[in-house]
Amino acid sequence: MKLYNTLTKQLETFTPNEKNTVRMYTCGPTVYHYAHIGNLRTYIFEDILEKGLEYLGYNVLRVMNVTDVGHLTNDSDTGEDKMQKSAIREQKSVYEIADFYENAFFLDCNKLNIRKPNVVERATKHIDTYILMIKKLLDEGYAYQSNGNIYFDVSKANNYYQLSGKNPKDLFVGVRETVEEDKNKRNPYDFGLWFTVSKFSNQEMKWDSPWGVGYPGWHIECSGISYKFLGEYLDIHCGGVDNIFPHHTNEIAQSEAFLGHKWCNYWIHGEHLNDSQGKMSKSKGEFLTISLLEEKGYNPLAYRFFCLNSHYRNQLVFSYESLNSAQNAYNKLKNKIKKLDRTPNLHDKKIDYYKDKFKTAIENDLNTSLMITIIYDILKDSELTDFTKLYLIADFDKVLSLGLIEEDKTVDEEIELMIMNKIKERDLAKKEKNYEKADQIRNELFARGIKIIDGKEKTTYEII
Ligand code: AMP
Ligand code: ZN
Repeated sequence: MKLYNTLTKQLETFTPNEKNTVRMYTCGPTVYHYAHIGNLRTYIFEDILEKGLEYLGYNVLRVMNVTDVGHLTNDSDTGEDKMQKSAIREQKSVYEIADFYENAFFLDCNKLNIRKPNVVERATKHIDTYILMIKKLLDEGYAYQSNGNIYFDVSKANNYYQLSGKNPKDLFVGVRETVEEDKNKRNPYDFGLWFTVSKFSNQEMKWDSPWGVGYPGWHIECSGISYKFLGEYLDIHCGGVDNIFPHHTNEIAQSEAFLGHKWCNYWIHGEHLNDSQGKMSKSKGEFLTISLLEEKGYNPLAYRFFCLNSHYRNQLVFSYESLNSAQNAYNKLKNKIKKLDRTPNLHDKKIDYYKDKFKTAIENDLNTSLMITIIYDILKDSELTDFTKLYLIADFDKVLSLGLIEEDKTVDEEIELMIMNKIKERDLAKKEKNYEKADQIRNELFARGIKIIDGKEKTTYEII
């Protein structure tokens, strides 16, 4: 498999450290607000990478952090504490904010068929690991203490500028405009590992440490969680391109200083989703979430389809016009598949040919638009039986995850209202011990293709 490695700036043949097993780390969300569809583009790309590797026969161990400490989203003492700001806005504790938005994030992922990684860990759960790492970095002279805080000395790092490809001289000119000056640092690009003295004096999340009560710096959570759950050698580390500098650069510096050897071989970055004004962000323009798209009548999987039609390393510009075209194309594609005859009639002929084509698309730096073209090619191929087409599409959809074979299970509002009223009526009948009526309602719905599911707390339903 060929992947573009940001570290070496070239397409490279992927070889994991351990045959057949891939250790993969992906930076997770900061849970102070909903994810916007730009963030979700990055998670779609990572999902395809994970599933693509699995399709090729690798066993993928994937770990992701959840950043639940707001001030960790910026270096040193700069920026704002986003968790605290949301807690004040919503009159909740920072822990409640983290719970709520972590949950919302995984609900969005679920709508987009993004699989939850094997291990998902909150940043605040691993303070002991960060302390252990920081202690060693201090002992070995990579870090220093200054006015109550601990900083990493970037001048001690090996090849600090390799990942970003930045020129230190340019950086030092830029730094004056982009980073608020922290007088405790030796070099402007040194970064905080532990803070006891900070402008975020009123924040709720603080822990004891050998250097006093405080909180960790932004980058150490990913180095710490990766080390704890994936060990000393990582195959793949992903994120959006904005993570390259300083976040991933600093992760490499501290992890390699701590471990004493090279840490991760392949750094794979997804390009941004832009709007007409540039990079999509939570603070400017319309705050585009998956729920908002749904309210406007879009199927989340049409957004996934929209993303997969362009390569993850190309910028993608979002507009409602292009999403409309994607949704139309997606619906047409699903309709074509729906019309295929499902009578079992599998022909081996050409199965391997198409599977090889599909593998080659994965191996070619995750060429997702080619993967979709292969689906169209299969539909057009008169030498394939309908059942063989369905077989192949179902197989490829393990990677694409566009719900191509599933029947459309969405119901319109009127039907939803009818079902909910029937469920209420049945719940009442059960309460009144009128089981005959309850069963009758259940059977009536079942006859209409709606299956009632009795949960512990509430009754739900499924379209069959
Ligand atoms: P955050 O929750 O801000 O830490 O971001 C989560 C992920 O979304 C990171 O991997 C970012 O690199 C990525 N990201 C942020 N903005 C965009 C964007 N406009 N398009 C694609 N990915 C993005
Ligand atoms: Zn990270």
